[in-house]
Amino acid sequence: MEGEVVAMNSLTVNLHLMMVSFFQPDATRNTVLIESSAFPSDRYAVVSQLEFHGLSAAQNLIEVQPRQGERTLRTEDMIERIEREGSRLALVLLPGVQYLTGQLLNMPALIAAARRVGANVGVDLAHAIGNTVMQLHDWNPDFAVWCSYKYLNAGPGAVGGCFVHERHARNFRLPRFAGWWGHNKAQRFLYDPKFDPIAGAQGWQISNPPILSTAPLLASLQIFQRAGMRALRDKSIALTGFMQKLIEQHLPNLVEIITPGEREQRGCQLSLRIARPATEARRCQEALTAAGVIGDWREPDVLRLAPIPLYNSFADVLAAVDTLARALRGSGL
Ligand SMILES: *Cc1c(COP(=O)(O)O)cnc(C)c1O
Repeated sequence: MEGEVVAMNSLTVNLHLMMVSFFQPDATRNTVLIESSAFPSDRYAVVSQLEFHGLSAAQNLIEVQPRQGERTLRTEDMIERIEREGSRLALVLLPGVQYLTGQLLNMPALIAAARRVGANVGVDLAHAIGNTVMQLHDWNPDFAVWCSYKYLNAGPGAVGGCFVHERHARNFRLPRFAGWWGHNKAQRFLYDPKFDPIAGAQGWQISNPPILSTAPLLASLQIFQRAGMRALRDKSIALTGFMQKLIEQHLPNLVEIITPGEREQRGCQLSLRIARPATEARRCQEALTAAGVIGDWREPDVLRLAPIPLYNSFADVLAAVDTLARALRGSGL
């Protein structure tokens, strides 16, 4: 819903602002649950919020991990943990798409589990926004945050975004860090000393937005609107599925796909573990870059490739896997 979304700040700043409102620890509920390989910035933000409340990561942070020998998280394990820790959870912070493995979590099931035990729920959509189709209002988290320079293509430093569920739109008793840009628009220039927040997500704005890093977001969103998120997702499923098939057929012993095989459990990205010594694997990524295939290398052995439905073709995917094959074994597909 329109009033639930606002473009402002950057992801980590929005995460802090949301935790000011939705992480309110008390004597019994004072713990945050995240996943163990959360993007470092999210962990820094959570731990600093804990410490701000006089709590600690050692006592008040639960980090869920994949099972021994597995790379991705299981929904049933996460739900079981949420239920087991339920009475002490103040906040559950979930990734939409896990940045390292490309795993798309079952957001509706996990959000529902967290809400059943009485915890607040936030979702970090850094790698999900512009990548998968979401129904945040229906899924019912308290908040979500994202940046717009990944799948939304708004460029480095572009303004990020925030979702606050409608059920909090008029909850003016929630603690929040206020600023003039969140004040009732009609009264903004009357300089009333008493803060009168705009109902909905816009009421969390603090400052006037940086226009130069908002303009490219507007241009990008117009393109997304024209293409349609559903159509983009359909093409994305086909593109990534094509890349998966090529890799499985042609590079079975050289590359292990860490990302789940099912379309419901991933977005565009495939995370590939290169079964080669580190220096060789790195050379392979350099060969891709030299050929114009821009992937991302994560130490010690993960190559992330994400065919993008807006501007990548099936021929691009074929060329990328062919380049990977040449780099790994000196011959093409
Ligand atoms: C990219 C990313 C960020 C980046 O944070 P900024 O505040 O925009 O610099 C944070 N969290 C996750 C999970 C990310 O993938």
